[in-house]
Amino acid sequence: MLATDKIRADFPIFKRQINGHPLIYLDNAATSQKPQVVINALVDFYQNHNANVHRGIHTLGDEATQLYQAARANLARFIGASDPNEIVFVRNTTEAINLVAFSWGLAHLKPDDEIIVTELEHHSNLLPWQRLCRQTGAKLLHLPLDNNGDLAFSYLKSLVGQRVKLVAFSHVSNVLGTIIDIQHLARDLKHSAPHVCLLADGAQSTPHLPIHVKDLHVDFFCFSGHKMLGPMGIGVLWAKKAILETMEPFLVGGGMISQVKPDSAEWADLPDRFEAGTPNVAGAIGLSVASDYLQQHGLQNIRDHEQDLTTYALQRFVEMEKQGLVTLYGLRDPNKRAAIFTFNLTGVHAHDVAQILDRECGIAVRSGHHCNQPLMEKLDVPATVRASFYLYNTRDEIDALINGLHLVRKVFKLT
Ligand code: PMP
Repeated sequence: MLATDKIRADFPIFKRQINGHPLIYLDNAATSQKPQVVINALVDFYQNHNANVHRGIHTLGDEATQLYQAARANLARFIGASDPNEIVFVRNTTEAINLVAFSWGLAHLKPDDEIIVTELEHHSNLLPWQRLCRQTGAKLLHLPLDNNGDLAFSYLKSLVGQRVKLVAFSHVSNVLGTIIDIQHLARDLKHSAPHVCLLADGAQSTPHLPIHVKDLHVDFFCFSGHKMLGPMGIGVLWAKKAILETMEPFLVGGGMISQVKPDSAEWADLPDRFEAGTPNVAGAIGLSVASDYLQQHGLQNIRDHEQDLTTYALQRFVEMEKQGLVTLYGLRDPNKRAAIFTFNLTGVHAHDVAQILDRECGIAVRSGHHCNQPLMEKLDVPATVRASFYLYNTRDEIDALINGLHLVRKVFKLT
């Protein structure tokens, strides 16, 4: 079990009061809070080592380059990649997916080819493929949710024919919390349709589950630093070296060439060829420190803690649901879902719920469409409330949320 008291003491933001209440932060699917060690790493870089990387032969330049490359190697170990050069630093998951759509997609997709996405996808794993289809004449197919809120995997096999070139799916849904068993899914797909390329969006899984990319049988995997205790503006695209080597750069300019002539240029080796311009060096170092912090506590321990919170929160939400007070979306099996709870309070708009929880209780939750408007349409709601948990959250905070929801009902004179 995690020592949440000790963990919380590592996060300075938990000293804050919000509207006169101690902060209860339940918006982790949007972004996570940062431990002091990560904040210190950013300050240390700018205070003691700041210089541009790969350029200039001076001590600070060397230090910055070494720290940046050490961060890359550490993150490769963190996700079980075989080579640090398979780690491409990007700004976030959104940029990683756009990079793949541009660099891999434009070269591989032809008219009447097909891309499959699921009905769970965040806009960041939908819009790049919509655009790629418009650009190439390929078709976008959608794997639907079944009546239980799980993906209709049996239907996937019938969708995957010779024309399908790519299947892109979330590892964990940011709306319903569904955990997709990509290991099995990808292994089956690679067996039955070896020509299909697979991309997994790990934005919501990498912070919460042990990840070993080689065991996942996917070709591309991406995640964002800010959701896993790291800084904003840094993320990772991982792909097998053999695939990256065939891809054209997404951005061109400084730092990504081996030779430039007035009318032509040759690209640098991996991964520099995909990192044009000055990178977010401090961000990469901060993300590496965040990954160490997560590993110190153990990703499996974090998953176990969150599964305990999930079991408890499900119990509390179901009590309210039985009384007709809330509608909870998503699967009910804590083994199949992450600690993300999307719901509506009967008779109150999601934005009002979020505002009152913040004002009256200091509880931060999300409300809106969570960058997944097609799924909102499927659920037949304009918006939902989302409470999402992390390693520093506790059962007491779930109780506070449930009490907060009863308070919202009082404010709206529903009791
Ligand atoms: N995919 C999923 C599943 C997400 O939850 C998010 C962030 N909400 C993203 C992609 C996009 O992440 P970012 O904004 O860091 O690019």
